[in-house]
Amino acid sequence: MNMQNTPFNLAQCIEHAGKYFSHQKVITRKVEDDTLHEITYAEVLGRVRQLANALQKLGVKQGDRVGTIALNTYRHLEAWYAISGQGAVCHTINPRLSPAQMIYIINHAEDRFIFVDHIFWPLIEKLHPQFPKVEGYIVLTDKEHMPTTAHDVKLYCYEELIKDESTEFTWPEFDENSGSSLCYTSGTTGNPKGVMYTHKSNLLHSYAAGSTDGFGINSMDTILVVVPLFHANSWGISYLGPMVGANLIFPGKRMDGVAIFEVIDKYKATSAAGVPTVWTNLLDFADKEGRKMESLRDVVVGGSAAPPWMFTAFREKHDAELLHAWGMTETSPLGTMNRSIPQLDNLPAEEKAKIRMKQGRPVFGIDIKIVDEEGNELPRDGEAVGHLLVKGNWVVHTYFGADKPAVNADGWFDTGDMASIDRFGYMEIVDRSKDLIKSGGEWISSVDMENLAMGHPEVLMAAAIALPHKKWGERPLLVVIPKEGQNPTKEGIKEHLKSEFADWQIPNDIVFVKEIPMTATGKFSKLTLRDQFKDFYAEAE
Ligand code: AMP
Repeated sequence: MNMQNTPFNLAQCIEHAGKYFSHQKVITRKVEDDTLHEITYAEVLGRVRQLANALQKLGVKQGDRVGTIALNTYRHLEAWYAISGQGAVCHTINPRLSPAQMIYIINHAEDRFIFVDHIFWPLIEKLHPQFPKVEGYIVLTDKEHMPTTAHDVKLYCYEELIKDESTEFTWPEFDENSGSSLCYTSGTTGNPKGVMYTHKSNLLHSYAAGSTDGFGINSMDTILVVVPLFHANSWGISYLGPMVGANLIFPGKRMDGVAIFEVIDKYKATSAAGVPTVWTNLLDFADKEGRKMESLRDVVVGGSAAPPWMFTAFREKHDAELLHAWGMTETSPLGTMNRSIPQLDNLPAEEKAKIRMKQGRPVFGIDIKIVDEEGNELPRDGEAVGHLLVKGNWVVHTYFGADKPAVNADGWFDTGDMASIDRFGYMEIVDRSKDLIKSGGEWISSVDMENLAMGHPEVLMAAAIALPHKKWGERPLLVVIPKEGQNPTKEGIKEHLKSEFADWQIPNDIVFVKEIPMTATGKFSKLTLRDQFKDFYAEAE
């Protein structure tokens, strides 16, 4: 062997930060009381090692799945590294899932322990009897805020658990292709599917995501991490931040314009990443107050399409560049990023501006193409629209526990998105082939909603569509044909939907019609419906 062959381990990120960027900070708006808390990478590293020791004492072994149901905080970050670093799998769970989805994924993943924010404990406590494999919960808080439980289950206080442990820990060596983290996508119909990232895939993704044409950050940066740690590993930022020694800001539960503006201003954030909804609220607040975000250089936006006005608002009012990125849980998630290339320099300003709003070009390590229904590749002319396929070093091959691959015979993964690619390689998402509604960056399955609605005794047909909504990006509208002679009420149908959907997924409104337009193949014509109702939520808050 000519070169050293140390396997990748994600713990390297936090070891590097603790050793070489020891004074850089992780700033958190605490979940307990919304106050701001600061801790250095050196301190975080010590606590990560303490937690790794504690987890070993609890009997956590390599390959075990350990869940987290938590917001973005330093404790959640510590749990990430302590779990993955010792060879267990950090299974991040979205706290906003419906109880049915949560039960499904926790049992599917066979989580042995779950880290949970104290504010989510009442919800989890109720569901606990349905998690037969879970041996205990570690509440991410101190003694003062510890909840109690009536159940016969182990409930550990995070701070008490780690306080007497050693700050030394030797990370084991294991195959870099072992699972490090598990994230379920709800962007599909039917049961959620798990994507099991490996130490190698996550680290390669972080190298690429951190490059100049990716997030382009270093230790001079302070990044506001709005994107949740449970959403595709916070787009990799919570690995690459420590890798390059950037300060991180975790907003806890406060995502409103006031709180987000405050942390950007106070800590001079240079960069930020999140879904469009959060930036709408932030820009709205800044506008109302007539204030500028002086420190901000760029804002990465993804998860759903950012509207054109947002690019202009950041540039003209805040001298900040809005960078469009595209990806999905299955792609770790970074696939494309919109950065400029020299060929754009000679284009008319208007054309250049249009290109800069597209979802971007693949980062190194990723390849994309568009194909027609038969799988034939379509031209890269910015006009042709086809199914977007992706291939790369951090793209899913087989969903966790599935018996067949998620890729085609040539190794390409079908994203479910419809896109065009122009002559410069810039990809633009045109539509989704899957009929899903994306509200505030999170998915609502229209098919599941229709099926349940049509199970209502007074409903004949129901179509759920995504309509543009100023605050949430999209919100569902349910279009219903009542059964003959029946008069279902909006409230009655909403109650019925609540048996399987979380409150935030329930449609804002329901309209009753006599007919629903159909396509040639007998499916609801969602395009016609969306067009018919396009302004329905135009004024909605
Ligand atoms: P998720 O797995 O929840 O991250 O969702 C991935 C999906 O979000 C993609 O397949 C796209 O449909 C959508 N998406 C992500 N980024 C963008 C973007 N920049 N513009 C439009 N849609 C996006």
